[in-house]
Amino acid sequence: MAETSSPAGDESKQEWYADGLRFACTQCGNCCTGPTGYVWFTEEEGAAMAQHLGVDEEAFYDQYAHKINGQWSLTETHTKHGYDCIFLDRKSVPGKAICGLYESRPLQCRTWPFWPENLESRRNWEATRRQTPCPGINAGALVPIEDIRIQRDGNIR
Ligand code: SF4
Repeated sequence: MAETSSPAGDESKQEWYADGLRFACTQCGNCCTGPTGYVWFTEEEGAAMAQHLGVDEEAFYDQYAHKINGQWSLTETHTKHGYDCIFLDRKSVPGKAICGLYESRPLQCRTWPFWPENLESRRNWEATRRQTPCPGINAGALVPIEDIRIQRDGNIR
């Protein structure tokens, strides 16, 4: 008789990306532009970004952030590429679009593309690759499941 039930235990709940996923950023900047969107950050992250820029927090919030439904997001600038994050730097490195405050970037940026919604299914992962489009997805070194989980669950600090 054929086995019809799924195996019991953790194995049946394992993520579809249990063997890891390939990712290597090419610094194209596509994930930092496109349609208007949000780069959420906490007050702690705001303080770190202000410090990185050498400005006081009031000046930082005035120049680089706005509040939406009680939550802070970085401002965008409308360019020929779309709505760029205010800190996306397309000039310093020819042919690249780099983050102007990379070491202090918010968690949302640190954990891209390993966001829960992108990882929900292989279909979502592939759609993220195509629609961003992100040439780093499925390229480069294998990111092990343990590292993906840390980023997915926002446990980076
Ligand atoms: S879209 Fe992908 S490859 Fe391009 S900057 Fe973002 S993470 Fe890097």
